[in-house]
Amino acid sequence: MSRFLEAEINLTQLAENFKQIKQYLNEKKASCKTIAIIKADAYGHGAIESAKCYEALGVDYLGVAFFEEALILRESGIKSKILMLFDREIEGVFKNNLTPVVFDYKQAKMLSKEAEKRGMILPIHVKVETGMGRLGIYENPCNAIKEIANLKNLKIEGIMSHLSIAEDKDWTQNQVEKLMKIRDCLRKFGLTPIFHIANSRGLFYENALFDAVRPGLMLYGYGSVNSQIIVKPCMTVKTKILDIRKLPAGMPISYGGTFKTKRESLIGVIPVGYADGYLRGLSNKAMVIVKGEKVPVVGTICMDLTMIDLTQIKDVEINDDVILMGEKNQEKITAEDIATWANTIPYEVLICLGSKAKRKYIQ
Ligand SMILES: *Cc1c(COP(=O)(O)O)cnc(C)c1O
Repeated sequence: MSRFLEAEINLTQLAENFKQIKQYLNEKKASCKTIAIIKADAYGHGAIESAKCYEALGVDYLGVAFFEEALILRESGIKSKILMLFDREIEGVFKNNLTPVVFDYKQAKMLSKEAEKRGMILPIHVKVETGMGRLGIYENPCNAIKEIANLKNLKIEGIMSHLSIAEDKDWTQNQVEKLMKIRDCLRKFGLTPIFHIANSRGLFYENALFDAVRPGLMLYGYGSVNSQIIVKPCMTVKTKILDIRKLPAGMPISYGGTFKTKRESLIGVIPVGYADGYLRGLSNKAMVIVKGEKVPVVGTICMDLTMIDLTQIKDVEINDDVILMGEKNQEKITAEDIATWANTIPYEVLICLGSKAKRKYIQ
């Protein structure tokens, strides 16, 4: 027997989120392309299904972190352009028609050499440093890009950078201006690739839109900061009650005895723990939904089990549904709620829960 932990993905809502972002872009800057980010298995939603959804809606690029993620997409028949963000893979790029992001000259040179061997010209995007301190050309980017452009068998299709404090307007403006300077410099040399820097949060700065944007989180229904883009979560995570026990007042629950019942209590046990990405930091903090009511997680979350206080719930039975993330009746628990309880960010919550649960897709 396997545990019941299910992530239900609503593909209609996923498509709707994509459309909402497209519609916003059409209003702000119709020429702006969309690079849908599907790294980390599409933030736990399943990269293949998400890619198919965006492909059907005419996405310009799919963005993955590593080569293997791109390979899986190609093997499942995805034909869209794929931007590979963080990988020095050479051969696989050619065999699978990928667009690599180049972050140093050495990598560019190797790609050019391989392209020459194959008698072709490879389109690439070049990454420049503007304040993220992660990857990208830092020293004299305009010159460095020119040198890469001089490599015979590469064509610079795009120049990109990444926002590091997208909630800070001034800092973001500073990063945007650095990228604009590089754009202006390259124009003088007749180089006019597309430029992109905006992640989801960056969509709300009009001058960060450039020629393309790279939304991730917002595709999955989180991170919109105003009503200009209305997205909704598309993942519901559920389990079922494994056991229900009536326990007296003063009874310690779970490791460390961090919770003691204050009254005679009905304690439910669910077959989910930190092994499933239900973070241990949620101990004594999280709520779950049972029969349309919110109830608290009590005691420390174990590797495979978690206890919940069902005392207030009428007629609750073994095998009843427990919603860890999602909605029922008027009650709702979002990845943001869970992130707050666990002192993390919704990105991590989606990936933790979405990647361990059995996924079920609904239309
Ligand atoms: C993850 C990532 C994104 C998407 O960021 P969100 O905040 O999820 O929209 C965009 N660009 C790069 C380079 C990334 O690594």
